[in-house]
Amino acid sequence: MSTVEAYARRTARRGWWRDGLEASIYLVAAVGVALFVASGGLLVTSPIDHVYGLGRVAGIVAAVLVLSQITLISRAPYVERALGHDRAAAIHTRLGKVAFILMLVHVGLVLVMNARYDGRSILTEAVALWDLGWFMVAAQVGLGLFTIVVATSLVMVRSRWRYERWHAVHLLVYVAIAAVVPHQFLEGSTFRDGGAAWWFWLALWTLAVGSFLVFRIVRPLVLLARHDLRVAAVEPQPDGSTSVVMSGRGLDRLGARPGQFLLWRFLDRQRWTQAHPWSLSRAPRPDSLRITVKPSGDASAAVAGLRVGTRVLAEGPLGIFTDVERTAPGSVLVASGIGVTPIRALLEEAQAPCTVVLRVRSREEAPLIDEVEALAAERDAEVVVVAGPRGSGWGTAAGESLGALVPDVASRDVYVCGPVRWADAVELDARAAGVPATAVHRERFGW
Ligand SMILES: Cc1cc2nc3c(=O)[nH]c(=O)nc-3n(C[C@H](O)[C@H](O)[C@H](O)COP(=O)(O)OP(=O)(O)OC[C@H]3O[C@@H](n4cnc5c(N)ncnc54)[C@H](O)[C@@H]3O)c2cc1C
Repeated sequence: MSTVEAYARRTARRGWWRDGLEASIYLVAAVGVALFVASGGLLVTSPIDHVYGLGRVAGIVAAVLVLSQITLISRAPYVERALGHDRAAAIHTRLGKVAFILMLVHVGLVLVMNARYDGRSILTEAVALWDLGWFMVAAQVGLGLFTIVVATSLVMVRSRWRYERWHAVHLLVYVAIAAVVPHQFLEGSTFRDGGAAWWFWLALWTLAVGSFLVFRIVRPLVLLARHDLRVAAVEPQPDGSTSVVMSGRGLDRLGARPGQFLLWRFLDRQRWTQAHPWSLSRAPRPDSLRITVKPSGDASAAVAGLRVGTRVLAEGPLGIFTDVERTAPGSVLVASGIGVTPIRALLEEAQAPCTVVLRVRSREEAPLIDEVEALAAERDAEVVVVAGPRGSGWGTAAGESLGALVPDVASRDVYVCGPVRWADAVELDARAAGVPATAVHRERFGW
C-alpha cells in the first residue's frame, strides 16, 4: 500500500469513528428508553397514560443527552482524542438545545396529565408534587436554573457578553444538574428497584460525573504536583506579544503535541480564578513549555506582568490541530497574526514538502516571524510572506491564492490558524484549489 493510500484509509476510518461516536449518544438514549419500556413504564390503563408515558420518555432522552454533554466537556483524553475539542464543544451545544426542549416536554406532559387526573390546575399540581419529597422541589429549582442558563446563552449570542460573565452564569448548570439528579433515582419508579435500568443509569452518571471530576479537577492538581510547572521567563516580543516559558519536571509525560493548546491558570493573587486557552508556540520539551500571547483584553495584556517563579495549573493538552490528523505527507501551514503560535510549533515536526504562508500587515507587526523563517530554513521548508493591507479574500489587494502560491496544494494538508472570517476565506480558497475537506485543519482562537 502506498503512503498516500495509507493516509486515505486512516482518514476514512477516523471519519467513520467520529460520526459513529456522535450517533452512539442516541443509541444509548434508545437503550434507556428500551429499559424503561421493558420495566413496564409504558403500561396503559387509560388513554392519558400514552401521553404520560411520552413525557417520561422525553425525560429519559433528556437525561442521556445531559450526561453526554457533561462527558463531552469533561476534557477526558478519550473524548479529546476521539472527537477533538472544537467538535466536542459543538456537539455539547447542539445536544444542550435538544435536551432543554425535551426537559420542557417532559415537565409539561407529566404536569398536564397529573393535573387532569387529579382535577387540579397545573400550578396547584406543581406545588402538590412537593409532597412526594424534597427531590421534587429540587427538580423544579433545577429546571428554573436550566431556563436561566439557556436564556442568558441566547442573550449572550445576541449582545456579545464578555466571556467571563457568560462563563459565570454557565456554572449554574452544575447546580441545576445536581438539583435534578435525585428525582430521577428517588421518584422514577423505573430506577428505584436495583434492576438493569438502575445499573444503566448508575453507570452513565458515574462515567459522566466521574470523567468531569477526574479530568477537570483531580488531573490538573496531580499535574501541578507531579510537574511543578512554574513561569521561568517572560520574554517581550518586538511585535508587542509576550512569550512565557514555563519550566517543569518530566513534561514529555504530559503527552502534548505541537499544535495543541492547554488551559492555563497562573496561580498568583490576581489571576488564579481565570483559566485561558493558549497554544504551545513551540514543540514541548521535556523540561519546558512555551506560549506566546497577544494582548487582546485584560488577562492577555496582564501576561507581560507575570513574575518568574509563579506556579501554573494547566488543563490539557487539548485539541487535534496536530500532525496526527494529517491525511497526506506534505503540508501548507497558513497563519495570520497571533494564529502563528500553533503553526510555529507544527513546523518543528513538519515533513517535506512544507510551505508556510504568513499573512501579515507588516513584518514589524508579525509575531515570531524570525523564528519561523530560521526554523523553515533548517527544515528545508518554504516561507511565503503575504504582506500588506487587507484585500477582498484572505490576502492583499493583489488577490493571492493558495493554488497559485503552492501549485500542488491539492495533494497536501492545509493547516489554518487566524481570525475566524479570514480562516473561512483561506478554507474556501483551499477547497477551490482542490484540497479535500478532510485535509483542511483549523484551530479557532475564539467562539
Ligand atoms: C484554542 C485556542 C487557542 C488560543 N491560542 C492563543 C495563543 O496562542 N495566543 C494568543 O494570544 N491567544 C490565543 N487564543 C486566544 C486567547 O485565549 C484569548 O485571546 C484570551 O483568552 C483573551 O482573554 P482576555 O481576558 O485577555 O480578553 P477578553 O477581552 O476577555 O476576551 C477576548 C476574547 O477571547 C475569548 N476568550 C476569553 N477568555 C476565554 C476563555 N477562558 N476561554 C475561551 N475563550 C476565551 C473570547 O472569545 C473573548 O471574546 C486562543 C484561543 C483558543 C480558543
